[in-house]
Amino acid sequence: MAKEQQHGLLGLDFQELSQLVLKHGQPEYRARQLFDAIYPQRVASLDSISTLPKEFRAALLEEGLDIGQLRIEKSFQSTDGTIRYLIATADGETVETVWMPEGDGGESGDGTEAGENDWNRATICVSSQVGCAVNCQFCLTALLGVKRNLTAGEIVGQVLAVLSDRQVDMERQRVNIVFMGMGEPFLNYPHFIKAVRLLAEGVRFPESRMTVSTSGIVPRIHEFGEEPVRPKLAISLNASNDQVRERIMPINRKWPLATLMQAAREFPLRNRERITFEYVLLDGVNDDPAHAREVVELVRGIRCKVNLIALNPGPGIAFGTPAEDRVKAFQQVLVQSGIPAFIRRPRGRDIYAACGQLKRTVG
Ligand code: SF4
Repeated sequence: MAKEQQHGLLGLDFQELSQLVLKHGQPEYRARQLFDAIYPQRVASLDSISTLPKEFRAALLEEGLDIGQLRIEKSFQSTDGTIRYLIATADGETVETVWMPEGDGGESGDGTEAGENDWNRATICVSSQVGCAVNCQFCLTALLGVKRNLTAGEIVGQVLAVLSDRQVDMERQRVNIVFMGMGEPFLNYPHFIKAVRLLAEGVRFPESRMTVSTSGIVPRIHEFGEEPVRPKLAISLNASNDQVRERIMPINRKWPLATLMQAAREFPLRNRERITFEYVLLDGVNDDPAHAREVVELVRGIRCKVNLIALNPGPGIAFGTPAEDRVKAFQQVLVQSGIPAFIRRPRGRDIYAACGQLKRTVG
């Protein structure tokens, strides 16, 4: 059983459920019944699993083991269809999870805005920690510091809560997951990777529909490359040289660009897979065409694409948003050098749901 404090069955994998079932003197097939009820069927309470004997359910409840789904405390809806959820954990913390119908408005969006039920594909952005310790200078979450890691159950629980709230039918509707909410997933690696397995095996998200973003925790990038089941990799680059990167991302002192790019170069990509480099453009800091030319040199030889994000402004952030023509000029340099580069349309800016804006005390 997982070492973390267990508030419910959510977060246990099939093997752990099998152990639990055997401990209670039940036949092994009960583990499959529990697993299917918790993950693909998203059942909210043990009482609703009528296939299980009453005494077994009662014994689990006596141990304090109900399903343990997370509760949506509040939600804020943006004019563009994006919903920012505040989701409560059992110990009274809240994390943020964002629902973006029609994807994140990136390369394949048609530019139209989606209404509440008017979507054919969507992305859920999940958090991996309460707060974050990485301290990127352009990010509101950084202002919180890190309070604690989320458990695998709490990471999966965010997805289940949103799927249920949006009444998603996984058989018919296409949903992607991005691990890009609050926290650095690679500083909570065991729980993050367990959540990935549960989402793939239990909730039935193909690994190709999941993406994790890291600020550049190099040893974990290597480890992640060896995983049999893993999301796609995105690296939050945000600067073209060490001088600028150290200023806006202190983590660069520990793993400078040469080390980070070496890890990216060695990363074992699957067929047709690319690494995504994310680049938040900060007015007058990292948005010059000369910086774009440095990015071209950095990523040379790596099968990749670059997502450009003009800074989402926020209180307490000391940087400005570059003008649109500056963003376009930056993109041009990359595209002309043969690097796929996309300008990401900000989602839910009005409700503080956009990239780098997640901070539970705002709004
Ligand atoms: S951008 Fe990501 S890694 Fe950096 S401080 Fe914010 S949440 Fe943490």
